[in-house]
Amino acid sequence: MINYNDALKKAESAFKKLKVKTEKVGLLDSLNRIIAEDIYADTDHPSFTNSSMDGYAVKYVKGITEWKIKGEASAGSYKNFYVQQGDAVRIMTGSRIPYGADTVIPIEDMILWKNMIKFRKNKSLRRGINVRIRGEDIKRKELLIKKHTLLKSNNISIAASCGKKSIKVFKKLKVGVLATGNELVDINIKPKNDKIRASNLYSLLSAIEQMNMEPVPFGVVKDNKEKILKRIHEALYSGIDILLTTGGVSAGKYDYLIDVFKELGVKIIFSKVNIKPGKPVVFGEYNKRVLVVGLPGNPVSCYVNFILFVRNTIMDCLFLNKNFITTAILKQTLTKQDNKRHFLRGIIHNKKGTNFVSQTGSQSSANIGGLNSANCLIVFKEELKMLKKGSMAECIMI
Ligand code: AMP
Ligand code: MG
Repeated sequence: MINYNDALKKAESAFKKLKVKTEKVGLLDSLNRIIAEDIYADTDHPSFTNSSMDGYAVKYVKGITEWKIKGEASAGSYKNFYVQQGDAVRIMTGSRIPYGADTVIPIEDMILWKNMIKFRKNKSLRRGINVRIRGEDIKRKELLIKKHTLLKSNNISIAASCGKKSIKVFKKLKVGVLATGNELVDINIKPKNDKIRASNLYSLLSAIEQMNMEPVPFGVVKDNKEKILKRIHEALYSGIDILLTTGGVSAGKYDYLIDVFKELGVKIIFSKVNIKPGKPVVFGEYNKRVLVVGLPGNPVSCYVNFILFVRNTIMDCLFLNKNFITTAILKQTLTKQDNKRHFLRGIIHNKKGTNFVSQTGSQSSANIGGLNSANCLIVFKEELKMLKKGSMAECIMI
């Protein structure tokens, strides 16, 4: 059995070999995608020196408090003024500062009569006030958005200001999902006797969607080796990048997945990890083009394993901002007996700027109630037997 950190390293190196393809998309379609190029400023920003206020542009000279109005400059309709000592040009926010002027005095600080303005005595006047200098925000050729950034609307704003009509992004990974088990019925059926709804299919498909990847459903297949083999073979040749299966990876009589993977030529990278929940997880690779992850059937194990080995691996390898790990102060003492790494379902809440975390209900891997109310996994390391109330715990956001 492999330990968690080694399993994670192996998963990441397998993912890196996948070589995620890129594509060009229109600027608006790049929202929530991972950018595959660096974006540099094509001009200074602001690209011309301009006014940050509605007021009067003047040439500052110490002692001068009266000016004669020569004309008006509004945003987008530049006129070629030459402002000399004693001249003022009425100016609007965003207008280019006329030649010779260096200072903008706000309208409310002036008294106006006829075509003259006078500075109000109780205000202070300094050279350069209310003027935005060319390039003071961003210099031309400055790196603005780094490759691997998850693009949000604030990034789109700056890309638009650089004239980027299209953006190179990483292609959405296609992730197939197949559920296995004789006991599974579709969710629109009320299960009878020992049947249960195939909820993992939906949790995985939605978890993929949540990452803005492309989910590809392969349905439910019974615990029949030939049928599983046929469906997985079909999935491996359907153009997907990752195949997730759920169920059938433990040591039961009808757990066929590992045998099927091997028979199809899937190279097993690791199977069984020293963690709880989700010890039986299997991670493999097919022909250097499809990652294959056999997740356990227990809904909590299945979901937690997805977070640990699929979502986190992809985020670590593809995303610049890896903000899924945080810390929080434990609200209760936690104990364990074994040497596994535990991932406890927890709730982080923030009180006056500090994160606190408590575990949610029962931690059995079959109990979905606690997972539903959780927003994180509390990491309880192998060698520790107790995490004390009030100590700082590492948490993985879900
Ligand atoms: P297995 O990993 O196949 O041994 O299944 C472990 C447990 O998870 C069993 O109690 C199964 O009934 C349950 N299970 C398996 N597949 C699913 C699924 N798709 N949705 C919900 N529960 C499942
Ligand atoms: Mg099963």
